[in-house]
Amino acid sequence: MDLFDVAQSRQIRMTNNRVSSAESVSDHRMRRADNEIAELAERFERMRTTCEAMWQLVCETTGLTDAHLTYRVYELDVADGQKDGKRTIKSTPCECGAMVNAKVAACQFCGAPAPARSPWDSV
Ligand SMILES: [Zn+2]
Repeated sequence: MDLFDVAQSRQIRMTNNRVSSAESVSDHRMRRADNEIAELAERFERMRTTCEAMWQLVCETTGLTDAHLTYRVYELDVADGQKDGKRTIKSTPCECGAMVNAKVAACQFCGAPAPARSPWDSV
């Protein structure tokens, strides 16, 4: 084995170590993402069960029906101009005249607190 072979073997070992390390980091990130997805699915199921329980209580105490709920969901869905199953939150006008993005707490132009919105807009 000459000097070139030794240098080349060392370079191959170092490359293999780097690949192995990158795979390990990638595996860790995938496991973490899988855990986050599982946690979100669990939270979603708890939220759905809680919403259903609340709705049953509302129906029992007010006389509202599933048809009322279905229609209200439809109204909220189409309020943004699109029937897409989502309620898109629109920008709101600031006292300075600028439109304030729904996801920010203050006007990006004058710094005034964002105009009052529905509490549901922050969910
Ligand atoms: Zn402003």
